[in-house]
Formats: sequence, C-alpha cells, structure tokens
Amino acid sequence: MKGICSNSPTRCRLAYSLKATQGMDGDCPECGSSLVAVDNEARPITLKQYHRVLLGLLLLLLMLNLISIYWFFVL
Ligand SMILES: [Zn+2]
Repeated sequence: MKGICSNSPTRCRLAYSLKATQGMDGDCPECGSSLVAVDNEARPITLKQYHRVLLGLLLLLLMLNLISIYWFFVL
C-alpha cells in the first residue's frame, strides 16, 4: 500500500517530507507508524464522470440527428 506516514513530522523523516512511500503492510518503513493512504481514487472518478457527460452529449447528438433524418424523409 502506498501512503504518507501518520507520525509526527518532528519524529519521522518521511512524515516531514510528506512523500508517498510504499510500506510493508501499510507501515512506515522509517518509523513503523501506520501510513495514511494517498487519495489516488479521485482521478478515475472524475474521468468516469467526464466519460458519462461525453456519452450523454453523444446520445443527444444522435437523437437530434435521428429527428432531422426523420423530418427530412417524412416532410
Ligand atoms: Zn514514519
């Protein structure tokens, strides 16, 4: 698991640097404190939302296209 050391910055070098490190079993390799998971879920969620918006726009465009084709052939 990758995370930032939860220990006090004055006690641990890795907590002071705020650098995400890969620790064994979620523990800091420097001091042994538990690591706080880095928020790396935020990007895929926004990407998913972006795809949903894109899909919605595409469907809207397709519907407008179908309506215009319908009008073209019927009228
Ligand atoms: Zn630490």
